[in-house]
Amino acid sequence: GSTIGILGAGQLGRMLAVAASRLGLKAHIYSDVPGPASDVAASTTIGAYDDLAKITAFAAETDVVTYEFENVPVSAAAAVEKVRPVRPGLKPLEVAQDRFKEKSFIASLGLPLPRFALVEGPGDFAAALETVGAPSILKSRRLGYDGKGQARLASPDQIGEAFEAIGRAPATLEAMVNFQFEVSVLLVRGINGETLVYDIPQNHHEGGILRTSTVPSRLPAAHRERAIEIASTLAEALGYVGLIGVEMFYVGDALEPLLLNEFAPRVHNSGHWTMDACAVGQFENHIRAVAGWPLGATERHSDCQMTNLIGDDVAAWPQLAGEANACLHLYGKNKALPGRKMGHVNRLFPRSVDVETRSL
Ligand code: ATP
Ligand code: MG
Ligand code: MG
Repeated sequence: GSTIGILGAGQLGRMLAVAASRLGLKAHIYSDVPGPASDVAASTTIGAYDDLAKITAFAAETDVVTYEFENVPVSAAAAVEKVRPVRPGLKPLEVAQDRFKEKSFIASLGLPLPRFALVEGPGDFAAALETVGAPSILKSRRLGYDGKGQARLASPDQIGEAFEAIGRAPATLEAMVNFQFEVSVLLVRGINGETLVYDIPQNHHEGGILRTSTVPSRLPAAHRERAIEIASTLAEALGYVGLIGVEMFYVGDALEPLLLNEFAPRVHNSGHWTMDACAVGQFENHIRAVAGWPLGATERHSDCQMTNLIGDDVAAWPQLAGEANACLHLYGKNKALPGRKMGHVNRLFPRSVDVETRSL
């Protein structure tokens, strides 16, 4: 297709639209509010996600539709699917936007994950604590991101407080994992099942928000294979088309060295380094996949550290713009609110020879 419809107008949509444009494709955005993507897309339709007539008319003007955030109502995506293909698909959306469905789906595939239980109300506290224990984390079942809607319990008697803290919303209780570090697998799957992966970044979070992603990671080679196997099994089971970000905890040498935390059915913040350290980055590969094109090489030509510019960090842009080998990306958001992702910088380094021993 030559017009890519994108549901959502955030920075991910913006970078997808730029990638589409570079390939001679047009991006058409649908969103309930204008956002960073509207400024660069060929056109934008502003409408509610429950305005199914409007969203259907939007879809009819495109060749294929994708989404840039996982909270697009499934009903909206289903309306689109009546007129145009929706990629990565409805199933990934439905599963990823509900933490309990997500964890249950992962478990049903036999993939490793932290112990978890559903907590819909105080009546579930005892059974959940029996399954999961403490220390643990209570996470709202829907709409959480950047560590929002989460409360930690050091001991079982704190579950009531934790439930109040997240606003008495249906939640999952998850065992606290004493991980060495976090990694993610960025995998792209084409319409005929062709699958490529990027090198695995090591991800560092601060205050629940991704701060840096670094390649190469310290993940040993044997465990990299396992990480890729986990992500491929998931993508295949979802019938996935496009780029998926699969977040994992690395716990070190163990029967299961990696535990799957969550996946994002879209391009992922921990993959932003691919824009500058690979010939074809995650945004372009997602566009290629959804458009039914051949995928592009995911090989990394440089070592790289991506740093998110959060809130006031963005004030440093003039220095960053002048820094050698730093690739600056700004999202064009006007207000640098605390915790808001304003841009990122990819710092490139010559590719190290021995990826196993490079320390971070
Ligand atoms: P995102 O912005 O990645 O979508 P989110 O709000 O959906 O984040 P998670 O990714 O589940 O939430 O959690 C945010 C961070 O909190 C994780 O990256 C990790 O650092 C920490 N965390 C989450 N779950 C656990 C756990 N079970 N054990 C230890 N740390 C955890
Ligand atoms: Mg999440
Ligand atoms: Mg996460």
